[in-house]
Amino acid sequence: MTYRPLGPKARLLMGPGPSPIHPRVYGAMAMPVVGHLDPQFVALMEETKELLRHVFQTGNELTLPISGTGSAGMETCVLNALEPGDAALICVNGVFGARLREVAARCGARVDVVEAPWGQDIDPEDVRRALRGSEYKLVAAVHAETSTGVLQPLSDLVAAAHEAGALFLLDTVTSLGGVEVDVDGWEIDLSYSGTQKCLSCPPGLAPITLGPRAREALGRRTHPVQSWYLDLTLLQEYWGAARVYHHTAPVSMNYALREALLLVREEGLQARWARHRDMHAALVRGLEALGLELVVSEAIRLPTLTTVRVPDGVDEARVRGELLETHNLEIGAGLGTFKGAAWRIGLMGEAACAESIARLLAGLGSCLSAQGRSADVSGAVRRALE
Ligand SMILES: *Cc1c(COP(=O)(O)O)cnc(C)c1O
Repeated sequence: MTYRPLGPKARLLMGPGPSPIHPRVYGAMAMPVVGHLDPQFVALMEETKELLRHVFQTGNELTLPISGTGSAGMETCVLNALEPGDAALICVNGVFGARLREVAARCGARVDVVEAPWGQDIDPEDVRRALRGSEYKLVAAVHAETSTGVLQPLSDLVAAAHEAGALFLLDTVTSLGGVEVDVDGWEIDLSYSGTQKCLSCPPGLAPITLGPRAREALGRRTHPVQSWYLDLTLLQEYWGAARVYHHTAPVSMNYALREALLLVREEGLQARWARHRDMHAALVRGLEALGLELVVSEAIRLPTLTTVRVPDGVDEARVRGELLETHNLEIGAGLGTFKGAAWRIGLMGEAACAESIARLLAGLGSCLSAQGRSADVSGAVRRALE
């Protein structure tokens, strides 16, 4: 067999992740690899922790990138928080809440669930009611449900968990770097994210942060953490002053993350959230001008991922295929309940700009016209960018 040189065509990534990569981040990945205990790498680890504290808005010392994707961050938080026999209350209103429940159940915890229909947010009253029934060590929720496009309001949820004496764990995979996340201000005890969503870095690392209450609980454990690889009592020895070898850090990925976090810092958190909010508003204007309907009601709409109803009679997979092949642009299919019924359009990190939105509206409009739906493409682009 002969192999041609690797040469993937660059796509405009406007699905549920990964998101487009800034050239500076690609450049960082091509830098010379050094040892994972080299003083140069150790210095980079310290900078990365500081930059992660900035984006999470926390002073938490235990803030670091886990080697693995967002799901590894999820497993790290859940496994380090729960021991066999503990009880957890998980909020489920989409795929990622369901994944949290599965991970918690696999570590031997008793797991109860508070549910909301897909496309809606979790009602804090339901959480309060559930918390009255039993004693829970952990309450977990997803901030930005990428499967539905819902942004979960948090203050009542966190207060309910803390009043009941439970730790609060928040999935910030599709919010960190795109919408406000304030770990200290909101009193979040544990949080994890991923690099390939609103941080616009390739997939491969999962930033996490643990506050004082979560660390106390970790110190009081009577069983070792079920995963050796994700055991924070060991990982903090490598990421802390002792620098004890645990596993070989993925050096190039850590270069990439540092550069991506620097880009976030240079833009400024407030400006970055405002950009995602404004671009989302522009996208919504354009989609509505194309005659499309959104799945989620305005008050709880997630700026970084928009779910759009597939109009009756439209072959949704054909639209996605044509967007990819003809327009070089990726959007996501519906998941679970929304399979075949919705598209998922991501405006994450570098994708959240006027040019991407114009390309998306033009492409989507022409794919819809090809299936016999009238679409005023130039009108939609104009409405979006006005
Ligand atoms: C993408 C995502 C994950 C999982 O991250 P992977 O990097 O795919 O492992 C978890 N939670 C949410 C909300 C996500 O969007």
